[in-house]
Amino acid sequence: MNYHQYFPIDVVNGPGTRVTLFVSGCEHQCRGCYNQSTWNPCSGHLFDDGMVEQILTDLKDNRIHRRGLSLSGGDPLYPQNVSAILALVKCVKAECPSKDIWLWTGYRLDELDKTQRQVLDYIDVLVDGKFDQSLADPSLIFRGSSNQVIHHFSQ
Ligand code: SF4
Repeated sequence: MNYHQYFPIDVVNGPGTRVTLFVSGCEHQCRGCYNQSTWNPCSGHLFDDGMVEQILTDLKDNRIHRRGLSLSGGDPLYPQNVSAILALVKCVKAECPSKDIWLWTGYRLDELDKTQRQVLDYIDVLVDGKFDQSLADPSLIFRGSSNQVIHHFSQ
């Protein structure tokens, strides 16, 4: 898996202060996509063990409290990304169980295959669905268009 950007401090993508990873790879081709440069799974930088360690270190950093991890892109559930994302969320939940994990995907929840659904066991919130320009609404929080749904899997 490759990634495009990593923000060790982020107050925009999800609630509270967070760390946010924008991965490479997306097949949805939503009209009006704000992040077309991430579509190519080979673009960006290699997501390696060093990046996993960096995320864990930042989540554990007591100087600046992070509420959790946000995973966006691109699409974290792009088929080629799933194994790396699954390993990452398992690791974060094992080492930082108090942190919440939000994940944005262009697939709808009911479209996810068995492999993709494994990730759901380790995340707290899934924001699903393609961006639909005809339903875009800047007043929406944490989603771009009203067809997208915020699914909470934990309290
Ligand atoms: S799912 Fe997100 S990154 Fe992918 S095309 Fe749609 S808006 Fe762009």
